Amino acid sequence: MNKGLEVARGKTKVLYEKPGQPDVLIVQATDAITSGDGARRDEIAGKGRLAAKTTARVFRLLNLCGLPTHYLSGGEDDDDNEMLVRRCTMVPLEVVVRGVAAGSLVRRKPGIARGSIIIPRMVEFFLKDDANHDPLIDPDEIVHRGLASPPEIGAMSEIARITFEILAHAWRRREALLVDLKLEFGRIQSGEGRGTLVIADVIDNDSWRVWPQGREDLMLDKQMYRDLETVTPADLERVRQNYELVSELVGQFPSARPAMIALAADGPDSLGILDPVVGALQVFGLQTLRRVVSTHLVPGYVLQAAQQLDATFARLIYVASGPQLAAMLAAATPTPVFDATEFEAEELAQIVAKTLAVDDTIMFGRVLLVQANARSAVLHADAQINAPPPQAPLG
Ligand code: 5GP
Repeated sequence: MNKGLEVARGKTKVLYEKPGQPDVLIVQATDAITSGDGARRDEIAGKGRLAAKTTARVFRLLNLCGLPTHYLSGGEDDDDNEMLVRRCTMVPLEVVVRGVAAGSLVRRKPGIARGSIIIPRMVEFFLKDDANHDPLIDPDEIVHRGLASPPEIGAMSEIARITFEILAHAWRRREALLVDLKLEFGRIQSGEGRGTLVIADVIDNDSWRVWPQGREDLMLDKQMYRDLETVTPADLERVRQNYELVSELVGQFPSARPAMIALAADGPDSLGILDPVVGALQVFGLQTLRRVVSTHLVPGYVLQAAQQLDATFARLIYVASGPQLAAMLAAATPTPVFDATEFEAEELAQIVAKTLAVDDTIMFGRVLLVQANARSAVLHADAQINAPPPQAPLG
C-alpha cells in the first residue's frame, strides 16, 4: 500500500498517513515482541503477519456486532500486515476487563484466589506510562487530569465489558477461557463522527490471556513469553506456533452463520400482524421471508410449505401470526416456533436473536448491544426529566 508520513511508532506497530485520505491511517504490525514495558524485546519472523490477522479479525467481529471501533479494512490478506483505520486522538489509558483473577490483580490483591471467576466483570484503568510501568489510575484521577469525562469513563467501561463478553463467547465456543483483556480507546480526529469514542489501537494475542479448557498451563497468549526466564530460539518458535494457532482460531470469529426467520401468516388478513416483527428483526440484521398459509382452508399446504422450508435452511425459526398456526407448526416440524401474538415485536425479535446467539457470536454481540442501548435510553430519559430547569436569562 502506498504510505505517507510516519505519524507514530509503538513497540509492535508503526502508523502512517494514507496519502489523499487525511481521516485514515495505515497501521503496520511488526515482527517485534516485547515485555516488561519494553525491557525484553525479540523478533519472531512472521509475527507481524499473525498479529495483523488477529487484530483485523477481532475488529471485524466487533464491527459486525455494532460496537464502535477505528477499524475500516485490511490486515487479513497478503497486504504487508497493513490495516486501514480511522485517525484518532488516543486516550492515554489501558482499559482492562477481568473475568478470571490472574496477573497483576492477584499480585495486588492476594486475597483473591488466582483462577477464580470474577462476576460482575471488573474494569480497571491503567495510565499509559511505560517509565512508571503503567500505574493503576482511578476514575476521579482520570477526570482530574482531564484525560476523559465521567460520561466517557462510563462509555469506555460499558464498551469494554461488552467487548470482553463477545470475545469470551467466541473463545468459549472454541473450548477456551478468556481470562482478561486490554483495550485502548481513541476519539475520531476528523471527518464523520468527529470526537466519537471508539475502540482503537490493536486487540491481538498480546492483549489478552486465553486458557484452553480453562487451564493456565495450556495458555496460548503472550503471557508465555513474559514468563520465560531466558529466551531461546526454541521458546520463540513455541510462541510463534501459539500465535499462529490463535490467528487461525480467531479467523472463525467473524463468520456469520446464515439464518432464516420464516414469518407465516394464517391467511392473508394476518400478514399485518407480522409487519412490526420484520422491522424488529432487522435491528439484529436477521433475514426474513414471508409465507401465507391457512390452517383451516389449506392445512395440507401448511405442512408442505413447512417441510420445504425445513429442508432448505440449516438454521430456521418460525414466527406464526397466531396460536393455531403456531401449534400446528410446532407439532409438525423440528424447528423452533414462536407465536407473534404472545409477544411485543421487540421482545420476540430479541428471543429469536438469543436463540440463534447460542452458537453465533455476532448475534450474541448484537443482543448485548441492543440490551445496553435499551438500558442507556432509560437512564438518559431519567436524567433528562430530572435535569435542572434552564436558567432564566439575566436582566
Ligand atoms: P495484568 O494487569 O494482569 O498484567 O494484565 C491484564 C490484561 O491486560 C492481560 O490480558 C494483559 O495481556 C493485558 N495487558 C496489560 N498490560 C499490557 C500492555 O502493556 N500491552 C498489552 N498488549 N497488553 C497488556
